[in-house]
Amino acid sequence: MFVTLFRKGRIIDPANGIDAEGDLLVVDGRIAEVRTGRRIDAPAGARVVECGGMFVTPGLVDPHVHQTGAASAINGGFTTVCCMPNTNPAIDTVPTVRFVRQAARDAALARVFVVAAATVGRKGEQLAPMAAMSRAGAVAFSDDGECIMNPLVMRRVLETCKSLGKTFMQHCQDHQLSEGGVMNEGPVATRLGLLGWPREAEEIIIERDACLNRSIGARYHAQHVSSGGSAAILRRARAAGNPVSGEVSPHHLLLTDDACDGYDTQAKMNPPLRTKQDIAQLKEAVADGTIDVLATDHAPHTAAEKARDFASAPFGIIGLDCALPLYAKALVDDGVIGWPRMIELLTRTPAELCGLRGDGIGALDVGSKADVTVIDPNHEWTIRADEFASKSRNCPFDGWTVRGRAMYAMISGRTLLDRMPVAAQTA
Ligand SMILES: [Zn+2]
Repeated sequence: MFVTLFRKGRIIDPANGIDAEGDLLVVDGRIAEVRTGRRIDAPAGARVVECGGMFVTPGLVDPHVHQTGAASAINGGFTTVCCMPNTNPAIDTVPTVRFVRQAARDAALARVFVVAAATVGRKGEQLAPMAAMSRAGAVAFSDDGECIMNPLVMRRVLETCKSLGKTFMQHCQDHQLSEGGVMNEGPVATRLGLLGWPREAEEIIIERDACLNRSIGARYHAQHVSSGGSAAILRRARAAGNPVSGEVSPHHLLLTDDACDGYDTQAKMNPPLRTKQDIAQLKEAVADGTIDVLATDHAPHTAAEKARDFASAPFGIIGLDCALPLYAKALVDDGVIGWPRMIELLTRTPAELCGLRGDGIGALDVGSKADVTVIDPNHEWTIRADEFASKSRNCPFDGWTVRGRAMYAMISGRTLLDRMPVAAQTA
């Protein structure tokens, strides 16, 4: 019998409405008991993890990563990730869904779930075998990297998602309006002589999709929202009962298009970094619940790729290793939301978005698999991209000093991350 006792942590489990100091007992990979108030006596032979001053939470969930990033995930306290289908070849068939699921199981790191392509080759023309892929384990659908431009195809995708009970995640980019754009359209782009990518390219798609979805009522999710105007559209749609949601990423909460100055390709993002006003409006949307999912869009690229000139370098950065303190910096330190709500946006809401709620994902349910993360909210550290689990180094936050860190993570009772200051003791 393998027994682990997490002692005296602040247990934050929003799905079960728990936020109190207490003990959590894991027996043979499952959560045996969560007790607040009175202590649990450590059974003989139990490993005891002292969690004083720290949070004990469900394993964190990131619903938007690329190329799995499973090692980086664990390093950042994420025990579950959903990977996007814009691999080569695209995840648009039953065998590719099965292949990615199996490869992730073999790696035995974070739990990896597949978001499959909605259309063949992510071309936005012909529906992929969505029902069959759903049966093979796809948890949601997206053509991420590509936006479904044809409204008739989009309508069919939404109808199919509705009948399958799965979420559709849109990469909101009007490809005609953003043609050639490499950064936010505005004074900085003009000064740098780079082609602008207007916010309307995002907003127009969310507006159209919300309109299409009014009569369908599918679960629709706008990925990596960058514009304050997009948040306003989502807010209105939600108020009218349309089941739409949005996610926001650390870089869109912390950086503006000024970061592109000096042609720094680490700041080249899709969608692009916007302005201070957008950041303020996105934070407002997180505060009032319009945006209720946090996602990193973790996208590894090699140094050589990012070393190209700004116009031809790839879009994207890695984010899983340092996401937690960056969210804390943007949202908690700034008084937008508190830690418990932030934990909720990293556990319960993404788990529900991807239909993963249950059996240990997104909650500390007694009897379910023990996916647990321990967070020290006061741990100060400096982000060093060369110490990341990812082989990639494309991180614009390199050298930032931040507060808050995942100190410990387990999946099904198996310890995968341990940087606790006091080594676990055997009772
Ligand atoms: Zn995308």
